[in-house]
Amino acid sequence: MPDRTYVLDGHLEHGATSVIAPYFHIERPDSRWADVQGDVWRRTRAYVEREAINLPVIAVVALGWRCLHPLQGLPKLSRLWDSLAALDAAEIALAASKVHMGARPHDRLVELLMAVRSLSGDYKVTMWQQGLLGEICIIEGATGYECGIGWREKCDLQTRKAQQRRPSDGHPSARSVYIREIGRGVPKPRLELARAKRRTWAELVCPYPDCCAPGGEDLLGDARRHSVVARAHELETLNATRASQWRWNHLTQRTLWGLEIAEALNALAPASSHIRGLTLSLSRPSTRWRTLDADVGPSPVALRN
Ligand SMILES: [Zn+2]
Repeated sequence: MPDRTYVLDGHLEHGATSVIAPYFHIERPDSRWADVQGDVWRRTRAYVEREAINLPVIAVVALGWRCLHPLQGLPKLSRLWDSLAALDAAEIALAASKVHMGARPHDRLVELLMAVRSLSGDYKVTMWQQGLLGEICIIEGATGYECGIGWREKCDLQTRKAQQRRPSDGHPSARSVYIREIGRGVPKPRLELARAKRRTWAELVCPYPDCCAPGGEDLLGDARRHSVVARAHELETLNATRASQWRWNHLTQRTLWGLEIAEALNALAPASSHIRGLTLSLSRPSTRWRTLDADVGPSPVALRN
């Protein structure tokens, strides 16, 4: 594995403050990549110790949605969890792929939340590529999430891999812009349509006085700052809400309100490759949101002996 050494050395040469162990996408619990990943984690720990690398190690755990099942997924990966423990990572970055997709995304979401709760018992967990589900994962124990400031809202590792294989001519579309009530980024062309609708626009204007100028024009410009500041404010609200039941209530109420706004945005124009629509299957039916915390249940799956 000569490139394993190369990867870590590359981190060090560029002044990294932590090192990311090489990682592989484990799409299914029976994937042979699980053993490869476990082997690489153990070799990474050995290399870090041999070279006296005194930096925190981050483990990216890149799993397909089938791996998250509490019976047919996580427990079948027991050798992987043993290797993860051997790596002694300071933090894990959980990239859970395609949870938002399929005919029953609520079921996938419940399984993701159970996995987050289990992993958070042993590790500091950051969600990767989760602008859509990052906030809800924080209720179940994740300490943060990453979303490429609008370019990695939803984790789909296969699509991402295919994109990286093609010659890149930059990002295919503008960054999506975080709208608090909807709890995700909204495609900018759809926001531009909303600008002409006074009532809809009034719902979208940034509510934070330390963020955007009044009127909402900042949402249509370079909205990176808005997306960071507004997402941080929302996390502050969640953090200030101590009991998990109240956090769930907060997100449920927000989702109910956001669903109306999202439907109004979708009604502005049919979805097309230029003006993408908002997929609302995870926000609907709202009654499922009210019981999500009960669906996740009180008992985490034991991943570590
Ligand atoms: Zn703002």
